Amino acid sequence: MTATAADSLSGWKQKAISWWKQSGKPSAVCDVCNNRVSSGKGYVLTTSEVFASKQYMQHVETQARILGIDAQAELKNLRASNTPWLVDDNCIYMFNDNRK
Ligand SMILES: [Zn+2]
Repeated sequence: MTATAADSLSGWKQKAISWWKQSGKPSAVCDVCNNRVSSGKGYVLTTSEVFASKQYMQHVETQARILGIDAQAELKNLRASNTPWLVDDNCIYMFNDNRK
């Protein structure tokens, strides 16, 4: 892991901690896989950080194929989102390219 990747990871974790405090929710779902995330866990990313990941876009394309929906339309919808993205431990690897 490079210093840059570690830095963004801890930054996203910090953002998640403040997001949980603000929201006051007992749990939420991962915006990538829809698994339940308990309060205080996971990472918070912006839409542009999410879309900087080729792996994430490939994931959406694969899901769209499975569900039989239009991948490009789906990516366009997701990209239009301006709310924070909650990502759990299972999915954060997509945004942390340098993890070995
Ligand atoms: Zn997930």
